[in-house]
Amino acid sequence: MRVPVAIIGAGPAGMLLSHLLAADGVESVIIEARSEAYVLARIRAGILEQSSVQLLRSVGLGRRLEQEGMEHRGIYLQIPGERHHLDFVDLVGRSVWVYGQTEVQKDLVGARTAGGQRIFYEAGDVALHDVTTECPHVTFAAADGTPQRIDADVVVGCDGSFGPSRSAIPDGVKQVWQYTYPYSWLGVLADVAPSTDELIYAWHPDGFALHSMRSPDVSRFYLQVPDDTDVNEWSHRQIWDALARRLGEGIDDWSLQTGPITECSVLPMRSYVQSPMRYGRLFLAGDAAHIVPPTGAKGLNLAIADVALLAPALTALLKHHSGPADAYSDAALHRVWRCTHFSWWMTRMLHQSGDPFDAQLQLSQLRWVFTSDAAATGLAENYAGLPLEGPDRTIFRAPGTADTSTGKGQTYSPSA
Ligand SMILES: Cc1cc2nc3c(=O)[nH]c(=O)nc-3n(C[C@H](O)[C@H](O)[C@H](O)COP(=O)(O)OP(=O)(O)OC[C@H]3O[C@@H](n4cnc5c(N)ncnc54)[C@H](O)[C@@H]3O)c2cc1C
Repeated sequence: MRVPVAIIGAGPAGMLLSHLLAADGVESVIIEARSEAYVLARIRAGILEQSSVQLLRSVGLGRRLEQEGMEHRGIYLQIPGERHHLDFVDLVGRSVWVYGQTEVQKDLVGARTAGGQRIFYEAGDVALHDVTTECPHVTFAAADGTPQRIDADVVVGCDGSFGPSRSAIPDGVKQVWQYTYPYSWLGVLADVAPSTDELIYAWHPDGFALHSMRSPDVSRFYLQVPDDTDVNEWSHRQIWDALARRLGEGIDDWSLQTGPITECSVLPMRSYVQSPMRYGRLFLAGDAAHIVPPTGAKGLNLAIADVALLAPALTALLKHHSGPADAYSDAALHRVWRCTHFSWWMTRMLHQSGDPFDAQLQLSQLRWVFTSDAAATGLAENYAGLPLEGPDRTIFRAPGTADTSTGKGQTYSPSA
């Protein structure tokens, strides 16, 4: 089989890339290790930056998001006894949306199925070949075991942190930066209405806690726990007690509503950046090139931002044999490092390290954010997210749409 673009991985990066390419008439095939049902059921991120929402809307993926997503003006940030609201709309004129990655994935699968996208689910032994030539190819075993080979002009690795694409770039070429945080998150999904209108990020001497949500009936919670925590060590009673304590039950008569816990898992926290994000005819996007701890809600948004840059760059490369593909890696890494720093900063500010000196610095930093517009604006600008920019610092938007987001710059569209 021969296609212009072979995409490895059917997560948000791979699916959205195929959607953007199709909008510009570029055909692709997706090769995915898991089943469609597994990919659709994965519980992961839940916050979309304004730019991600604008992009999804502009390419016809906004209908359910607008009906079921929840637009938030900001977040609550708290220390024991004090809860402060940061209003991103007042501070930087941008909001965020609560809309689960599972829902984004459903919308993408629905749109790509309707568009006739070819996806090989349950592919085994996926391997990349000849990526430094103009004729790269991917081999794998299809779900029924038959060997397959896809020849492409370009291969895109959207296969997350465990896929084969990132290691197809040799050690002598790539540079890797990584940091493992000395704690993890216990993530909890519960069938209970949120006890808050916007997310609560809580610094607490027992450890960080986050009250997030997925819908008016489903809440998402996180607790800082030691590395190597076994999820079975925590009874549901202990989880609710720890959440109530750390989230400040009793502050201004606030109380935490409890309900049936439907999912519980432990997430290690790490930062990872790999450069370059292009090697010959292989491009990396999303978690294949970078991982951030989830404190800044950046993982999914970075995957979306990468493919917003990459889709028009590939279109230009394939149709005109020129364009911004050479600049893709540097341009994407510019945003990746900003988000890597912000995620590290939020994580370090809110989690207990066990060092009392660190704790005093964290409290000082948080009080600065509570009382200084300059400090609060910095947090808001990073959390709500920067506009999506092309390699030439122009703003991404879909073909034929008006730029209502910033009014500045030229457009950077798939058909440019
Ligand atoms: C458990 C968990 C919880 C998270 N929670 C949050 C959160 O709360 N907030 C946040 O912002 N971010 C969170 N993230 C991060 C966020 O979900 C990711 O940044 C986002 O999914 C990146 O999208 P992606 O498409 O790049 O990668 P992925 O979503 O990882 O998709 C990669 C795809 O490649 C497939 N694949 C892997 N190996 C192969 C192979 N050999 N061959 C073919 N296909 C392969 C995978 O099955 C997967 O479908 C979380 C991540 C995890 C793992």
